Amino acid sequence: MAAGQVMVQGRMSTTLAQVCRRCLEPVAQSFALPIRFVFVPDDEWDCRDDGEVHTFPAHLAELDIAGPLREEFALAAPMYVECRPDCRGLCPACGSNRNTARCDCSPPDADARWEKLRALANH
Ligand SMILES: [Zn+2]
Ligand SMILES: [Zn+2]
Repeated sequence: MAAGQVMVQGRMSTTLAQVCRRCLEPVAQSFALPIRFVFVPDDEWDCRDDGEVHTFPAHLAELDIAGPLREEFALAAPMYVECRPDCRGLCPACGSNRNTARCDCSPPDADARWEKLRALANH
């Protein structure tokens, strides 16, 4: 590695506050991420940031790794979480949480909804 380059290596862990995609209950999702960044002064690197390699202004005395870290976590964070594998979600009719409440709604009439969609698609 050339002089002036900085390598940051380690393991970050965090807890994300997300919501279950089925029942919309808050879910605290913790995950850990191995990280490895190479920082190169921008007067020695004429390419743009690519993946692991980030540039920083050559005159800078301090490195700010918050930006790259945020990017890494945004990429690694799961898009959809579920509070538990067998989450029963919300009742489509009354909106109650079917994990905790029982309602007497009959199953939604799926066929009627599809008929509407089909009618829209045919126009
Ligand atoms: Zn859930
Ligand atoms: Zn219901």
